[in-house]
Amino acid sequence: MQNINNSSSTDSAFQWVTIYKAENTLEANIIKGLILASGIECKIAGEMLQGAIGEIPFEQTQVSVQVYVIKERHARQILVNYQQVKQSAPDWVCPNCNEHNGSTFDFCWSCETLKND
Ligand SMILES: [Zn+2]
Repeated sequence: MQNINNSSSTDSAFQWVTIYKAENTLEANIIKGLILASGIECKIAGEMLQGAIGEIPFEQTQVSVQVYVIKERHARQILVNYQQVKQSAPDWVCPNCNEHNGSTFDFCWSCETLKND
């Protein structure tokens, strides 16, 4: 990172702020990828802790996605879009057995037919 010495207001603009608390490292990395793809610098906090502890099950740790304060508004807009897409993914009906499956399932829970996009 560059050294910026001109004013204290600039310093505060370059502080990290948490914009998302992910359920796990996988989700945190998805968010990070989305934000980076929009040209916003981004980091994940809590990942190191997770590795150091080791004994704690994956699901129980919390990982924060952070951006600079000055980018917070933009990053939150990306998150809103992400959450809308996540929620709007439709449930699907298995073409093999007609069973109803939630959008998060890639395979039919009943007969294990692969979801057909
Ligand atoms: Zn099925």
